[in-house]
Amino acid sequence: MGEDLHRAVADRLDLDGQRYTSGRRTLVETLVGATRPLTAAEVVTESDLSQSSAYRNLSVLEGAGVVHRVSGTDEFARFELAEDLTDHHHHHLICESCGVVRDFTVPDALEESVDALASQVARSAGFEVRDHRLDLFGHCADCRSATQV
Ligand SMILES: [Zn+2]
Ligand SMILES: [Zn+2]
Repeated sequence: MGEDLHRAVADRLDLDGQRYTSGRRTLVETLVGATRPLTAAEVVTESDLSQSSAYRNLSVLEGAGVVHRVSGTDEFARFELAEDLTDHHHHHLICESCGVVRDFTVPDALEESVDALASQVARSAGFEVRDHRLDLFGHCADCRSATQV
């Protein structure tokens, strides 16, 4: 990751008639440095951009397909770089108590099993699978230990 990623982001923005401004680059770098999807408020804190600039540029990046919105269980949208830009296929653990969303990856063999299962389910519906998403909902370790006290 690095200049290749920034070039790919610039191309994607260009297709959408947008320029890759320094504010947008800062946002992309903020998301590159994050280990999980960030809320808009977290993006503001981490990027040091003003709230209005961060929100406006997030929405431009989302519109151009650079940034994806991850739906959780609370009212806060969370953002991450599109998987097809980062080439980092992953899944999410979503806490229904505190709302935190964490990334997780699974071994290739398990990914293949998920794909095989998905194709099998899809075939009976005449559907062709291109990709999958698998998000798990439940309670994170912090919330679980808090309720056990
Ligand atoms: Zn939690
Ligand atoms: Zn997967």
